[in-house]
Amino acid sequence: MSGTTSRDDGLAGKVALVTGGASGIGRALAVAYARAGVSTVLGYLPGDPHDPRQAVAEAEAAGGRAVAVACDVTDPASVDAFTDAAHDHFGRLDLVVANAGALDSAALADLSDDRWHRLLEVDLTGVVRTLRSAAAAMTGGGAMVAVSSIAGGVYGWQQHAHYAAAKSGVLGLVRSLAVELAPRGIRANSVIPGLIETPQSLDEENSLGAQGLTAAGGGIPAGRVGRPEEVARAIRFLTSDDASYITGQQLVVDGGLTVRFPD
Ligand code: NAD
Repeated sequence: MSGTTSRDDGLAGKVALVTGGASGIGRALAVAYARAGVSTVLGYLPGDPHDPRQAVAEAEAAGGRAVAVACDVTDPASVDAFTDAAHDHFGRLDLVVANAGALDSAALADLSDDRWHRLLEVDLTGVVRTLRSAAAAMTGGGAMVAVSSIAGGVYGWQQHAHYAAAKSGVLGLVRSLAVELAPRGIRANSVIPGLIETPQSLDEENSLGAQGLTAAGGGIPAGRVGRPEEVARAIRFLTSDDASYITGQQLVVDGGLTVRFPD
């Protein structure tokens, strides 16, 4: 297939589900998968301002196949229909990446039950829904990755206790699924991104915003914030046969941010 590599990583011919695929890390992953010969069903949230057709076009330009399918991870029926699309379009399902995520900034005093539940519906329950639905369809084994965060996965983050709790919860969920699904030949791992330049981190209201990101980049050992492709390639690795004996683990992709001794 044109545009694919000749690496023997077992990915060529595989089919993947990726939630939150219209932008950021999910969109970059569609291209990374296309280069490896993986066909991707990209989930997009209806109403999200990013056009999923662009992500599909980029994957096709990289020599691969991709389709965009609506998927709201807060709706179990939507998630199941998204999973079905893998078989409908490509005839099989091997890989799933629970990447969709939402962010909300709220101090503890403002963290109503409703606000807490709304965020966890996406960032934790949405991950369970995605992995549960996919696992039922992965009849020939495979691999799954959930996207956590250094917020919760490693650090705490003020005004983001609900986000951090969800992202921390993802790690326990994935470790447990790694044990439970191993007899079926399914591996499960988490990726913990650091500061990555995407629409989420560029959000001035709920995250660092453009200026905050640039300023933070100077404090990262790598000297800059990360690019979505750099997380995508880590996810691609974990779902490939190059990671065939890795399960239940967390891979931090942060340019050294969390291992730096404080000045
Ligand atoms: P992004 O905003 O580009 O991507 C998030 C995607 O999730 C969007 O496409 C959005 O439409 C989708 N989404 C939101 N709610 C959804 C729902 N209910 N159902 C389905 N999709 C939904 O930002 P990103 O940085 O690429 O985020 C990808 C993942 O990486 C997220 O889980 C995020 O929390 C995580 N993460 C990002 C960073 C960073 O610095 N950018 C750091 C750590 C973790």
